[in-house]
Amino acid sequence: MKTATIIGSSQTYPIGKILCIGRNYADHIRELGNEPPDRPVIFMKPATALIGEGEEIVIPAYSADCHHEVELALLIGKSGKDIPIDQALGYIAGYGVAIDLTLRDVQNDLKKKGLPWEIAKGFDTACPLSAFVPAAKVSNPQNLQLRMLVNDAVRQDGSTALMIHRIPELVSHMSGIFTLEAGDVILTGTPAGVSAIGSGDRLSAEIPGLVILQVTVR
Ligand code: MG
Repeated sequence: MKTATIIGSSQTYPIGKILCIGRNYADHIRELGNEPPDRPVIFMKPATALIGEGEEIVIPAYSADCHHEVELALLIGKSGKDIPIDQALGYIAGYGVAIDLTLRDVQNDLKKKGLPWEIAKGFDTACPLSAFVPAAKVSNPQNLQLRMLVNDAVRQDGSTALMIHRIPELVSHMSGIFTLEAGDVILTGTPAGVSAIGSGDRLSAEIPGLVILQVTVR
């Protein structure tokens, strides 16, 4: 899957870059013992990391600690650079749910050495992504519940109201660094409750009432 789909529409978007925010919920920053950032922490995943509904996560052999991070995903609908905060929501075509899979042991090692995170965050299957709900059907994206279930047990359950850097600010800030294009996807950070997954696990990432994404671990 390299195409974003909008629920209830025949319109599709070839997926471009996947921009991700780290440390955007205070409770998750605390659980990992990180410092709150002054500005959004940004990293990227390649489009080759994407999988969709019903597909399988393959945890790379070089990790023994793969974590789920449920996140609100934004689908960019039109091109923009230096987007003002008060216009940012107009660039979003849809809202979905994603899992920012993270090889925590590998990431911790890279962090210690001051090295980039790509091999911990951008491996094949590292970005399960749902279809997108049209933006017009989401009255307040800053008040959505994000839920992560593993084998039917709730592991994460947090509101997008708790984001440190809010959605318009994220889109505006990122567009000052990267030209945003239709089909780009932004992952907005994870609330608390991240934990390890393993072979045979069934994952369900949900925004109750809006969208569900179900994948399994090989
Ligand atoms: Mg994340």
